[in-house]
Amino acid sequence: MERLSSFLHAHGKQSIARRWMMNTMLVIVIVLITVNVCIYYLVKQYFYGSAESYLISEANAEETIMARLYDDSTVNWSTGVRQMIENFEKRDQIEMMSINQNGEVSMSSSGFTPKGPMEMPDYEMAKNGEDGRGVFIGREGGENIIAVTVMLSRPTSNYGAFRLVSSLTLLDSQLSRIMFIALAISVFVLLIAIMMGLYFVKSICVPLARISSTAKKLAKGDFSERIPVTSGDEIGQLSMAFNDMANDLENSEQIKNDFISSVSHELRTPLTAIKGWSETLAMGYDPETFSKGMKVITGETLRLEQMVEELLDFSRIQSGHFTLQMAAIDVIAELEDALLLYNDKAKKEHKTLSYNNPEFMCAVTGDKSRLRQVFINVLDNAVKYTEEGGQIDVMAEKTDTNVVVIVTDTGCGIAPEDLPKIKQKFYKANSTKRGSGIGLAVADEIITLHGGSLEAESKPGVGTRITIVLPLTSKKERTDDE
Ligand code: ADP
Repeated sequence: MERLSSFLHAHGKQSIARRWMMNTMLVIVIVLITVNVCIYYLVKQYFYGSAESYLISEANAEETIMARLYDDSTVNWSTGVRQMIENFEKRDQIEMMSINQNGEVSMSSSGFTPKGPMEMPDYEMAKNGEDGRGVFIGREGGENIIAVTVMLSRPTSNYGAFRLVSSLTLLDSQLSRIMFIALAISVFVLLIAIMMGLYFVKSICVPLARISSTAKKLAKGDFSERIPVTSGDEIGQLSMAFNDMANDLENSEQIKNDFISSVSHELRTPLTAIKGWSETLAMGYDPETFSKGMKVITGETLRLEQMVEELLDFSRIQSGHFTLQMAAIDVIAELEDALLLYNDKAKKEHKTLSYNNPEFMCAVTGDKSRLRQVFINVLDNAVKYTEEGGQIDVMAEKTDTNVVVIVTDTGCGIAPEDLPKIKQKFYKANSTKRGSGIGLAVADEIITLHGGSLEAESKPGVGTRITIVLPLTSKKERTDDE
C-alpha cells in the first residue's frame, strides 16, 4: 500500500496511474461489497430457511402425535401432553411449549414457564391465520430465535396450541464465520488486484515517463538518448516509432549541419576567387591579366548562380511548388546540348568523353530545360569525379516504350554504403570535390516527375554508371496532340 501511494504520488494527481488505479479500485471495491452483501443474504436465507422447514416438519410431527393422543380413549389427554412436553427428546436444541386458551405459556420442555402473557408473534399469526400455523424469526430473550406455533385441532383450556422455539445463535456464528472467510478472500482479491494493477500501470507509465523525458531532451537538441524496447506491445511499438523519429531527427540535424558547412564552404571558394581577382584588377592590370581575371570572375559567378538555382529548386521541391513546363521535345537534342558544354572541359582536363551519337530522335513529353539540367548534372559529376586520363562514355538507346541514357565513367566510384544515399538531399559521398550534395536529389525528382527513373551503379576505384530511363511519347499521344 505504501508503495502504491508513493507510486501514485510520484506520478501526480492527473496521472494515468492515479486515474486508472482509482477507477479500477472503485469498481473492484463496489463489486466485492455487492458480492459480500449477496453472500450474506443468500447464506442467511439458506440457514434460516432450513431451520424454519426443520422446525415446521418437527411441529407437524408433534401435532400428529397429539391428535393421536387425543383420540386414544385409553390415555388421559392432559397427562399425555404433559409427558410429551417433559420428555421432548430434542429439548437441548428445541424448546417445546404449550399455550393455553388465554395465550399464555402453560408448560415448557425447559421447565421454565414465564409468568403472565408474553409476546409471541407466531402465536398471534397461528391464531388468526387460516392454516393454524405461525412462524416468527427475531429477537426474544436477548437472542435471535425462530419460533413455530401450531394451533391444536382439538384444543382444551390448558392446551390450545403448542410452540417450538430454537435459538439461532449457532447458525448466526456459522454465518459470521462464512462472512469472515468471504471478507478475507475479498481483501486478498483486492490486494492481488492492486498489485497486478500497479504492475500493469507501471509497465505503461514508466516507459511513457521515459519517452516524455527523452522528448524534452530531443527538443533541447540532445539526440543521443533512445528508449529501450522491452516488449512488442503498443508501448514497445511507440518506443520503436519514437526511436525511429529520434534517428531521423538526428540524421536531419546532421544533414542540416553538413549542408550549412558544405554550402558555406562552396560559397566561400568562388567568393574568395571573385574578391581576390577584383582586388587585383582594382590595383591596375595589363590586358592579359584583365581577361584572365574576368574569366575567373565570370566562371565563379556562374558557379554561384548555379548553386543558388539548385538551392531554389530544392526549396521548391520541399514546398511542393516545383512545376514542369511540359511539351513535346526531342530528348536526344537536350542531351547533345549538355554534351557540348562538357566536351571542351573534358578535353582540357585530359578526360575522354565519348558519345554513341544515335541517328534517331526520341520524342518525349517533358520540360526541356529541366531535362537538360539533369544531363548537365550527371555529366558534371562524371567529369568531376573522374581523374585525368579517365574515360566517360555517354550512350542513348531506344526501346519500344523508353529512351535510356547511360553515363559511364572510370572515376573514383561510390562506396556501397553510400550508394543508396546519394540521391538524398545534401548527401555527399565524397567531400574532396566541390558540390552541394543536392544535384542528384533534384535530378531524381525531375526524372520521377517525368515518370522515369534514375539509377546509379558503382564500384569504388572502378567507376560509376548512371542510367536514366524516360518514357517515350506514345504514338497515340502524338496523334492526339496533332
Ligand atoms: P555534388 O554536388 O556533391 O556532386 P550530387 O547530388 O550531384 O552532389 O551527388 C551526390 C554525391 O554522389 C556526390 O557527393 C558524390 O559523392 C556522389 N557521386 C555522384 N556522381 C558520382 C560519380 N559519377 N562518381 C563518383 N561519385 C559520384
